[in-house]
Amino acid sequence: MSKSKISNKTNRPTCFIVSSPSGAGKTTVVMRALARLPYVAKTISHTTRTPRPGEKDGVDYFFVNKETFERGIVNHEFAEYALVYDQLYGTSKKTVQSILDQGKDAILVIENQGAKEVVKAFDPVVLILIVPPSMEVLAKRLANRPNASTDDVQDRLSKAEREIKDMQWYDHTIINDNIDTAVDALVDLITTYQRGKV
Ligand code: 5GP
Repeated sequence: MSKSKISNKTNRPTCFIVSSPSGAGKTTVVMRALARLPYVAKTISHTTRTPRPGEKDGVDYFFVNKETFERGIVNHEFAEYALVYDQLYGTSKKTVQSILDQGKDAILVIENQGAKEVVKAFDPVVLILIVPPSMEVLAKRLANRPNASTDDVQDRLSKAEREIKDMQWYDHTIINDNIDTAVDALVDLITTYQRGKV
């Protein structure tokens, strides 16, 4: 984990953005870290993609149709949105603001195009990148996903390579080699920022 930017000069609630190529395990890492971080809440995104087995509307995402999503864009309801694998994903301003208004820090698990918009809209923002230990490990994790087709795995692998290159501007990198260690690193990083507030 890099320590390039560890002090937070404001006492305002912070937006922590966590990104990673798909299959690097960011959702598991974030959900486990959140259980140990009472003053942090995860934003719930809107998406046009269909729910995967076990996913619940209003918990994992707000699952909406394209028309509803596009109306939200026109009405400036989103702090950011992006097209990912032909589906729209976005964070509403309301979901972020309601967390910050409670004096909590917000954690956004989003990809890097959206992260660029959040940096412009909120302050302070801390960018955290979770990476797999190697591309070989990532390929295995992607192939083990339910319903993963060879084309889908290839697609996600080449996107992952591009994404990791594009995310060199992030403030911190956590290598998800071992899940427990990665969760500890994320909890440590966030609590370090929280303690550093003046
Ligand atoms: P999945 O469909 O696997 O849940 O997510 C696909 C990608 O969309 C992941 O990289 C995830 O982080 C990203 N994503 C999820 N929600 C949002 C969002 O609100 N905004 C943006 N920009 N990306 C999102």
